[in-house]
Amino acid sequence: MKSGGELGKASSFPSLALLSWFEKEARPLPWREHYDPYQVALSEMMCQQTQIATALPYFHRWIARWPNWSSLALAEESEVLSAWEGLGYYQRARRLLALAKRLHLDHGGLLPKEREALFELPGLGPYTVAAIRTIAFNLVDFPIDGNVRRVLSRFYGDGSFSPSKQQDEAFSEKMMPQFRRVRRRRELAQALMELGAMVCRPKKALCQSCPIQADCCSATPIRAQAFPVKKPKAKAKVLHLSFVWIPESGGLWLRQRSPKGRFPSQYEAPNVEALTEADSKGRLCDGLCVPVAEVQWSGPIRRDFTTYQVTWHEGVLLNSMGFEAEARLREQGFDNHPYDHVAGLNLIPLMAKRLRLQNFKNPTSLLPS
Ligand code: SF4
Repeated sequence: MKSGGELGKASSFPSLALLSWFEKEARPLPWREHYDPYQVALSEMMCQQTQIATALPYFHRWIARWPNWSSLALAEESEVLSAWEGLGYYQRARRLLALAKRLHLDHGGLLPKEREALFELPGLGPYTVAAIRTIAFNLVDFPIDGNVRRVLSRFYGDGSFSPSKQQDEAFSEKMMPQFRRVRRRRELAQALMELGAMVCRPKKALCQSCPIQADCCSATPIRAQAFPVKKPKAKAKVLHLSFVWIPESGGLWLRQRSPKGRFPSQYEAPNVEALTEADSKGRLCDGLCVPVAEVQWSGPIRRDFTTYQVTWHEGVLLNSMGFEAEARLREQGFDNHPYDHVAGLNLIPLMAKRLRLQNFKNPTSLLPS
């Protein structure tokens, strides 16, 4: 172990020790069997923002249904979104489909290896390009994800803000010579990620079981807690979102959102977002030409996102809408969707979750009696 005075000065990275640990301890993941570039890219996109254990059943179903880029390219967006349902961040599924279509049309259904060619494809950012090049093709590159940043900031005792461009560049400068030196680049990249996931864990680092402890600037769970250094968080913006189910004629009033912005192309019940609960409920009910008291409300349900803290207020309109309200809703793109169809629509997650409790039937019984 390095002494405290040597923080940030860990010399050469012990790649060989890490590689031999990976050889023994790596989890047997399906995309590690053959390193098929399609499977590697799919795993990278599925596992961004999602735990591997959660993504695995999706991965198996996906590969059984669409075993390569060309079969995926022929899928309908609705099928792809429905296969993705539950993984969240649906934009990833759309990007994957756009990528498959382009590869099918322009690259014979295969991923290119060259950095420039990969960057020209839709949906691939710097991290995914580096991951594909290293893990799928075993080329010299360096994918840096949250696990890698955590391991390296602890290993080097790096006190700069994480994540940051400056820190990523510093890590690249230190690690790229290692990737040039070793042949097992795909193993080295994954070993760093695996160490972060299994040993150098966010809350409790298992330093006693760590293959690089002897060279690590932190080396103990307590010292490891000081890294990575996070930027102070901007205060989350508080929002209230009121939405109302309008059950009518055996269906619900819903519309599809725009393909841009939050929840792209997903379906939603009438709703209004505002800075206060009173404002969001008031404006929503004004639009429906009913007093706020005529909607039966439940909730609130709070959801914290990185930059927003949203409180949802769920309501059900118990009486029928007037003609004026119906005309206004139609103008805004809403339509009455029969309950039989609602289950097949890609609804905003929280609304889908609420309706799933009711088997996509009349939501009246979701509310307290
Ligand atoms: S687990 Fe401990 S010893 Fe290993 S890299 Fe992380 S902080 Fe260092």
